[in-house]
Amino acid sequence: MDQKKIGSFIAARRKDNGLTQSQLAEKLGITDKAISKWENGKSMPDLSLFSPLCDLLQITLNELLLGEFISDENLKEKSNQVLLEVVTSWLGKDQWEIKTSSHVPTVLKLKNVKKIYETECTSTVAVKDVSFEIAKGSFVGIMGASGSGKTTLLNMVATIDKATSGQIEIDGEDIAGLSENDLASFRREHLGFVFQEYNLLDTLTVYENIALALTIKQIPKETVKRTILNLAERLDISDVLNKFPYEISGGQRQRCACVRAIAANPSLILADEPTGALDSYSAKQLLETFVMLSREYSATILMVTHDALSASYCDKILFMQDGEIKASLEREQESKQDFFTRILDTMAKITGGVPYVS
Ligand code: ADP
Ligand code: MG
Repeated sequence: MDQKKIGSFIAARRKDNGLTQSQLAEKLGITDKAISKWENGKSMPDLSLFSPLCDLLQITLNELLLGEFISDENLKEKSNQVLLEVVTSWLGKDQWEIKTSSHVPTVLKLKNVKKIYETECTSTVAVKDVSFEIAKGSFVGIMGASGSGKTTLLNMVATIDKATSGQIEIDGEDIAGLSENDLASFRREHLGFVFQEYNLLDTLTVYENIALALTIKQIPKETVKRTILNLAERLDISDVLNKFPYEISGGQRQRCACVRAIAANPSLILADEPTGALDSYSAKQLLETFVMLSREYSATILMVTHDALSASYCDKILFMQDGEIKASLEREQESKQDFFTRILDTMAKITGGVPYVS
């Protein structure tokens, strides 16, 4: 994407539509300075402003991202070019490194897991017959449309919900055999959570929130401090440790949740749509954090997402539809972009429709 070209195009279209910088700023609810920065090619509009900005300038999204008008006969070619640039800039240009360890233990094992929700007059089969295994250190994604059973599946693994039948083993332990009391300590010992709604406690600072997870596990204070400071630096939240959750951004909160999840060294980290409430930059940072945690700390991560861009960070993806796993895809020695394309193809095959980017 050519930011300077986009900036000049925005300026020209703004003038063509008879708007001053202040008038455009007012209509978008932002400062004049932001408009001037875009027009000088110093920054790009926030994703949430793309749509209202295009309306005000009377251009299409493709034209905005290309920085020029697109005539009908060039539409297809130019649209593809723009999409590819956006995807490339979002995913980066790295090459995939394959992990080469021969003896990797299994952390999670599901065998014929089924969940039926019974209400007075209906019964819903939310998860039908799901079996899979996850090896230590892998970053696995579960994809599927809304209502396909992703959260139900994750909640059963999280021991929040009980399977109707089938087996779930975490670290070789069948969780169906655990009592309510045992489950609470099992969760603390073995699991870490990065859920959208699993918020940090607002009355504690970020540091205290993270420390709480560790003191429950009776880890010595000095060790707690060292662990938190190291991880905070690695995840770029050192500066906010003494702030309260409501004083920091959504992206920082999710990275704090990551530190909290990983600090106690759990066997398995569970994440349900962790990027759902984040802007695209923070989402990318969070996903890169997950990749780093799995590579450098051998963290095992199971992440639910409906979004192909997020999923392209994973090592392996399970595709769910109507409570079943319909396909799985492993990332091979390929770039994120190639993997992303294969994800879209698989989604299209499963739904029989057009692949989407959300
Ligand atoms: P997803 O996370 O993929 O959107 P869910 O696991 O939330 O899907 O839901 C799968 C199916 O199970 C849906 O049909 C949903 O309506 C149903 N369901 C989920 N939770 C409950 C519940 N507590 N009681 C009854 N039905 C439920
Ligand atoms: Mg869900």
